[in-house]
Amino acid sequence: MRQFDIPSFYKSDYINAIKNKRNATDKLKKDFTPTFFEKGGVHFYIARFFGFCYGVENAIEIACKVVDEYKNQNKKIYLLSEIIHNDFVNTMLYDQGIRFLYDTIGNSLIPLDTLDDHAVVIIPAFGTTVAVQNKIKERGALIKQYDATCPFVKKVWNKGEQLSAKGYTTIVHGKWHHEETKATFSQISQHTPVLVIENLKEAQLLASYIVTSNTNTDFYDYFNNRYSAHFDIKKDLNKIGVVNQTTQLASETKKIIAYLKDVMHKKFPHDPVADHFADTKDTLCYATNDNQNALIAMLDTPADLAIIIGGFKSSNTSHLVELCEEKLQTYYIDGADCIQDKSRIQHFSIHTKAVQESCNWLPAHKHPTILLSSGASTPDILVEEVIDKIVACIDQ
Ligand code: SF4
Repeated sequence: MRQFDIPSFYKSDYINAIKNKRNATDKLKKDFTPTFFEKGGVHFYIARFFGFCYGVENAIEIACKVVDEYKNQNKKIYLLSEIIHNDFVNTMLYDQGIRFLYDTIGNSLIPLDTLDDHAVVIIPAFGTTVAVQNKIKERGALIKQYDATCPFVKKVWNKGEQLSAKGYTTIVHGKWHHEETKATFSQISQHTPVLVIENLKEAQLLASYIVTSNTNTDFYDYFNNRYSAHFDIKKDLNKIGVVNQTTQLASETKKIIAYLKDVMHKKFPHDPVADHFADTKDTLCYATNDNQNALIAMLDTPADLAIIIGGFKSSNTSHLVELCEEKLQTYYIDGADCIQDKSRIQHFSIHTKAVQESCNWLPAHKHPTILLSSGASTPDILVEEVIDKIVACIDQ
């Protein structure tokens, strides 16, 4: 896979050595067992795959090149929104002079029509909506644009277009408020009816409208803002295909696909299934698959606790936490500063969506076993800092 030129302050020699050693002995990347290492008496297992993915490194490389190219030309550089969901990375870009046009939920921070002709705009890894693309175009040809949309996100858009060519409605398994899902919804809506569902429970609700041909307007209330213009439950739910936000939980996407396929088969028992349900393989990207599968493989290892490192708005990181929590005590932190000392840790709850403090998080004995992983938007340097902080706590 292509190597990207990203700044050294995101990298860690320590973590790099671990990754290189594994890659050297497992060139085809088939071995998902975790890597063991011992530091300061602590027994660490780190997932076989973790940290920066292709799309994130690609986006950071583009942003850094744009800064280098324009920093001495009196140009103002903007990102449409956070480049990825990691505060450390976004702060570094801000410090280099990049400003953000929208916040993560789409509120305008700097109106596009106030940009002058020296503006340079970067589209982040999540991509953007057709409406925002058009607004940039309207602003005129003098605004220079750089597109850092991840190729794996664009692959989903292409899949939606292919489904539309065959007459399928696209069901997106994703979080409606997430920038990537908004972009995907908007891009695919240009071609075909689209509906966003968040989980299996919502797939079951959708099925109740499909199976009974229920035309109750409750559908439009419940899925308000999550269906494309002119969506008609009488005709747009007879032929469907599922794509997803690339960072969703792979196992849930697979369950939704199997479930809705079965629903369509039951509704049209005399027709070939393919006439009503597109045979899409799930559209999760390789990094989400690898990181989730490596985490699942690591969970067979007996341990005292797990630490997952990533931004608190990061969808892919929160799914790693969700998987981990099923097996053992898990702390979701965004960096070493969350660790106060050997008895106190501040960590994010994916249930309350708030940071909370826990006491006595480290076992009293000198040789705890800790599982580690990090999200696709987490720089390796943050993982190294967390390891060092844990070791320092043991020494206290
Ligand atoms: S997680 Fe996957 S889709 Fe998202 S930026 Fe990374 S490589 Fe691209």
